[in-house]
Amino acid sequence: MREIKQIVVHCTAGNQRQKATDVVYFHTGPKSKGCYGWSAPGYHYIVEADGTIVATWPEDKISNGVKGFDDTSINVCWTGGIDLTKPKPYPSIDNRTPAQKAALLKLLTELKRRYPSAKIMGHRDFSEDKNHNGIIDPWERIKDCPCFDAMVEYKNIRP
Ligand SMILES: [Zn+2]
Repeated sequence: MREIKQIVVHCTAGNQRQKATDVVYFHTGPKSKGCYGWSAPGYHYIVEADGTIVATWPEDKISNGVKGFDDTSINVCWTGGIDLTKPKPYPSIDNRTPAQKAALLKLLTELKRRYPSAKIMGHRDFSEDKNHNGIIDPWERIKDCPCFDAMVEYKNIRP
């Protein structure tokens, strides 16, 4: 098994009712069909709106979650994260369902048990700390993903 230094939380920034298989197809399907054509999907696990946890890629294989960090990451994603009721560009929103929140906590607790030294982070926590104040301020974020503060919410998960 490769060394896991971080467990990274993402959102799809898409429709909350999207299925894990559709997300994987979008990443790995042919470019001729409008997909990314990647050799590996973006995430190891996808948590659907009803709380279903779908294993989408083996943990010992590298997925495409955060450029430059994937060789030491497990990438976890929940479906949703944008407010489709608003005009485009859709603003980001933490619209996780209670079932998704519970499933994420369960999954992350399990992963932390297996990779005790790994840090649980949100995708946006990989942004550059431009003013070096030790935190990633909202204006420094490369993107909003996963649309909530994962480091704060999961700081009490112990191996
Ligand atoms: Zn992300």
